[in-house]
Amino acid sequence: MKSFTYERAVSVRSAAIAAAGNPQAKFIAGGTNLLDLMKLQIEAPGHLIDVNGLGLDKMEKTSDGGLRIGAMVRNTDLAAHVDVRRDYGLLSRALLAGASGQLRNKATTAGNLLQRTRCPYFYDTNMPCNKRQPGAGCSAIGGATRQHAVVGASDACIATHPSDMAVAMRALDATVETLRPDGQQRRIPIADFHRLPGNTPHIETVLERGELITAVTLPAPIGGTHIYRKVRDRASYAFALVSVAAVVQKDGTGRVALGGVAHKPWRMASAEAVLPQGAKATTALLLGAARPTHENEFKVALVERTLAGVLNQAKGQS
Ligand SMILES: Cc1cc2nc3c(=O)[nH]c(=O)nc-3n(C[C@H](O)[C@H](O)[C@H](O)COP(=O)(O)OP(=O)(O)OC[C@H]3O[C@@H](n4cnc5c(N)ncnc54)[C@H](O)[C@@H]3O)c2cc1C
Ligand code: SF4
Repeated sequence: MKSFTYERAVSVRSAAIAAAGNPQAKFIAGGTNLLDLMKLQIEAPGHLIDVNGLGLDKMEKTSDGGLRIGAMVRNTDLAAHVDVRRDYGLLSRALLAGASGQLRNKATTAGNLLQRTRCPYFYDTNMPCNKRQPGAGCSAIGGATRQHAVVGASDACIATHPSDMAVAMRALDATVETLRPDGQQRRIPIADFHRLPGNTPHIETVLERGELITAVTLPAPIGGTHIYRKVRDRASYAFALVSVAAVVQKDGTGRVALGGVAHKPWRMASAEAVLPQGAKATTALLLGAARPTHENEFKVALVERTLAGVLNQAKGQS
């Protein structure tokens, strides 16, 4: 690990200003992703700004009946919160399907959204990777691609986004709240927050330099049966091969977002419109543009089967 300096931010605004004024600076929250990357020198910030002491760890109801989740709310606390379990069960289940109890105790809402890909070539600093080093090339293309994206990828990067929580938040239409260094607040729909790789896979979100996530808000509850189903190589402590986050209403209509298939949580209005017709029709639209490799074409069939299981489960519970 390279040496770095450290400060504890004293206010949200000063944290944003400090980060904007120093290109070497990074925020640190739970540290469960950033420190791993620093140990491998994939990330080497010269300065860390600790944003834990800023009071961003509260949860409160919004005036329209939704829920405002502070950026520093720990994954454990979010999953266990009574309102989340009752009204947004999907989110609670997605969080509990991720990482381990110890990690969830440290991991935060903002940090989870910003965790970086688990592409093995990204972690192997001996291998070219456009995400680590723009213009270097992509070792995954033509390499081992079992874990990689089947849709929305580019010639520069075929990595997936690893977060379970973000997939549930996409299905729930969450909004990311931020503060810019100039003092302006932004509200970014989660659909627009993560970017597809294109030619710039190292730019992963629409956040600007120094922009600090302060909270994530959920709209008022929409009822329905909430299901998160994650398929992985091991029963626990593994990232998703594919995941399905769904809210299904009694009449069969609902919402579906996929994890493990793209560079961001994957959701399409046209696919949701045919949800009452079943998993085959919905998957055909969701993954209609899929360009899998011979190693990960199984993901298309796996999504359809997982979604079929989810819809059966919803029928049984409604
Ligand atoms: C062994 C292991 C298994 C895991 N398994 C899973 C899994 O199955 N599913 C899953 O979803 N996740 C999994 N994770 C990932 C884990 O969920 C993330 O590491 C964690 O959520 C990151 O949160 P953090 O608070 O520790 O972020 P940090 O490591 O502190 O930060 C991550 C990034 O977010 C930035 N950041 C943090 N807070 C802010 C803010 N407020 N505003 C702007 N930028 C900010 C940091 O600068 C950094 O770039 C696993 C991790 C490990 C180590
Ligand atoms: S898929 Fe993306 S993260 Fe993986 S090696 Fe290629 S450029 Fe790097």
